[in-house]
Amino acid sequence: MDYGMIGKIEKAKRYAEERDNRVRFLSFNVTVQGENSPHTVTYENNRWGCDCNFFKTRGVCSHTMALEQILDGMIPMSVNSEA
Ligand SMILES: [Zn+2]
Repeated sequence: MDYGMIGKIEKAKRYAEERDNRVRFLSFNVTVQGENSPHTVTYENNRWGCDCNFFKTRGVCSHTMALEQILDGMIPMSVNSEA
């Protein structure tokens, strides 16, 4: 492996270790397979969204909470700012 690539791999490792300070999610779009049907979870401008009925009334749901656990503190906890 060439020297340039070794440097990049080391840098990548450091960035990943310092993820809290280095990585910020701006937006994403994910499907979560629920018990009955898949749901689309979105994240944009620090706001969560989900197409399930529970989310519509509570602003948080098992799908958004599952993603929070998967991403392990890398994004702010979901908050229901409308209720
Ligand atoms: Zn949901």
